[in-house]
Amino acid sequence: MKYIFSIFGNPVSHSKSPLMHNLTFKGLGIEGCYGRYLLEDGTTLRETFFSLGLKGANITVPHKEHAYHACDVLDPFAQKVGAVNTIVRHEGKLHGYNTDAPGFLRAIGEFVGRKVLFLGAGGTAQATAAILSDEGYEVMILNRSAGRLEKFREQGFACHTFETFEPQAFDLIINMTSAGLEEDVLPAPLEILEAVIPQTKACVDVIYGKETPFLKLAKKYDKPTKDGADMLLYQGVIAFGYFIDNTYTFDEILPYMKKAFDFN
Ligand code: NDP
Repeated sequence: MKYIFSIFGNPVSHSKSPLMHNLTFKGLGIEGCYGRYLLEDGTTLRETFFSLGLKGANITVPHKEHAYHACDVLDPFAQKVGAVNTIVRHEGKLHGYNTDAPGFLRAIGEFVGRKVLFLGAGGTAQATAAILSDEGYEVMILNRSAGRLEKFREQGFACHTFETFEPQAFDLIINMTSAGLEEDVLPAPLEILEAVIPQTKACVDVIYGKETPFLKLAKKYDKPTKDGADMLLYQGVIAFGYFIDNTYTFDEILPYMKKAFDFN
């Protein structure tokens, strides 16, 4: 076996990444193998990476910030957002990237309009708001509690809690929370959602693998919708490109990785 890769997370048993990457190695005829590693203590990420003899890794919840600190060299965007989901070893040094945000940007590329409402202010919202802002989108952040909004405010985003928000027209409303992942709950009060969804052009959820109450509500208003599957797929394709030193293009990698979504 030439190269070994892994995903680190906690939990990690549900992750589709091993299937996505292994199908792509097989499809492209590359000698590579991708496993999964349940990492409980994120501070041990670097030593665990080296002790497993890995060439590269993906990092999922809750270790993206630990991954940022584990790297020797950071891509400028990963440096800016403080979160790394892809690590590649080059000559003994760990290089860190964030592929979640460019994957997300590509996933929403089909929708027109630049005025976006984010529901949620967690780690995923941080990285994706930064890339949308870089690309000229106008992003407003609406979150259940005030605590996480301060960081966004410092970066110049308009921020509201449910108490201060005034409904208005957006091109795109995106559920960036984990509401709807485990329990069937909406990411914001129904009266707020019913005031903004009818005025929007489309609704997106970063959750994948199920139809969330948010997307169900959007469909009730006949809005075009999209879940988080393409975001997951595209971040994987971009990460794979880094793993193999960009010897294959995005479009060459995509069809093999996409096959992982044929499995339940
Ligand atoms: P975080 O834990 O960092 O943030 C969670 C956010 O959700 C906070 O803003 C929190 O609000 C809000 N929230 C949680 N529960 C509720 C609720 N019941 N009602 C309203 N708001 C709620 O999570 P992440 O940013 O890491 O992940 C967010 C989502 O993104 C997850 O569902 C995850 O699965 C998904 N994701 C999808 C990816 C993909 O490839 N498709 C990639 C990465 C993540 P508060 O501040 O008030 O607590």
